[in-house]
Amino acid sequence: MSAPQTLSVELGARRYPILIGAGLLRQAATYAELAPGRHVLIVSDEHVAPHYLAAVRAAFAHKTCAELVFAPGEQHKTLASAARIFAALADLKASRDATLIALGGGVIGDMTGFAAACWMRGVAFVQLPTTLLAMVDSSVGGKTAVDLPQGKNLVGAFHQPRAVVIDTDTLATLPPRELRAGLAEVVKYGALGDAEFFAWLERHADALLARDPDALAYAIAHSCRQKAGIVARDETEQGERALLNFGHTFGHALETLGGYDGLLHGEGVAIGMCLAARLSTRLGRAAGADAGRLAALLARLGLPTALPVGSDSAAVLATMRLDKKNLSGRLRLILWRGVGHAEIVADVDETAVLASLEAEQASVAAA
Ligand code: NAD
Ligand code: MG
Repeated sequence: MSAPQTLSVELGARRYPILIGAGLLRQAATYAELAPGRHVLIVSDEHVAPHYLAAVRAAFAHKTCAELVFAPGEQHKTLASAARIFAALADLKASRDATLIALGGGVIGDMTGFAAACWMRGVAFVQLPTTLLAMVDSSVGGKTAVDLPQGKNLVGAFHQPRAVVIDTDTLATLPPRELRAGLAEVVKYGALGDAEFFAWLERHADALLARDPDALAYAIAHSCRQKAGIVARDETEQGERALLNFGHTFGHALETLGGYDGLLHGEGVAIGMCLAARLSTRLGRAAGADAGRLAALLARLGLPTALPVGSDSAAVLATMRLDKKNLSGRLRLILWRGVGHAEIVADVDETAVLASLEAEQASVAAA
C-alpha cells in the first residue's frame, strides 16, 4: 500500500487535511487523530454499511461509540433524519467533544455535517466519502444541509469537517451510474476553471470509466485541490465559490421537478452545465464549439446532455427562481466564456433564459 496523498484546506488560522489513498479505511493509522473525545457516532446508509462499517467501527472500539444506518437516497436527507441523529447523540449522552463520522455519499455527508453543526451549537465531524461525487465535491468545503419538500439544501450551515479521508478502494462497489454521476462533477472543475484538466479528461475518459485506479486518483486529487483552493479564498461564497455551482441552478431545478428520484445529482449537473453553456452561446458570450466539446465529453462519460423528455420550460424557470444564488429576486447564473472560464452573471434576463429553455425543449422534441 503506498502512502496516502495529503492535501490541506487552508482557512485562515484553521486548516484540515484531505487524505487520499487506496485502503485507508482498513488501516488503523488512519483513525489516530480523528476523534479525540470520548463519544463517536458513525452515520452511514444501508448500501455502504455492509461493506465498510465494520472496519470503521473496529477503529473506535475503545470509544463510547454508536452507529446509525439510514435507508439510502436523497429522499432521506431531511429534518426528520437529522432529528434521528440528534436522538442518537442524546442516547449516547454525547458531550461537546463528541465526533460524528459520516461514512457514505453526499447524502450522508451533508446530513451528518448538518447535525454536527447543530448539536450543542457545533461539534466535530469527519468525512469518509464513499461515492466519487462525495470525494471530489461534497465532502470538501463545509457546506452541510438537509432538503425541504420545497427545494434542495434549503436548511443548512457552513461547518467544516475535522478531516476528509478518501479511500479510493471504496469506489469498487459503487454502481456504474453513480460513478458516472461523480464524473460530471469532475468535468465541472475543468469546465469552470481549468482548460488543461479538461483536456486531460478528454484523453482519459475511457480510463476513468474503466475505473483505472491511477486515473481516478489523479482526477480526485486534482478536483479536491481545485475545490480546496476556491474554498480557501471564499469560504462562505461571497464571490468565487459560486463558480462551483456551474450547471447547478438548472440541474437543481431538474432534480426538484423530478421529485428527487428521477435524475441523480451529477446527471442534473451534466445537463445543467450543457444548458448553461448553450445559453452562454445564445447570449453571445461563448463559442458554440465549446458547448459542443463539453456535451461530447459528458456523453462519452455516459451522462445526459439534454433536457429530459417532457420537461416544461416555464416550470424549470419557476423552480430556478428558488435558487439560493439569486439575490433580491434577480436571476443569478453561472455562465461561461468557454472551456475553463466560468463567470458569475447577476441579473440574467429571464426572457432570454426562457427562450433558451424553449429552444432546448424543441430540439429534444425534434430528436
Ligand atoms: P448518495 O449519498 O445518495 O450516494 C449515491 C448512492 O450510492 C446511494 O444509494 C448510496 O447508498 C450508494 N453508495 C455510496 N457509496 C457507495 C459505495 N462505495 N458502494 C456502493 N454503494 C454506495 O449521493 P451522492 O451522489 O454521493 O451525493 C449527492 C448529495 O450530495 C446530494 O444531496 C447533493 O445535494 C449533495 N452535495 C453536496 C455538496 C456540498 O458541497 N455539500 C456538493 C455536491 C453535492
Ligand atoms: Mg454538486
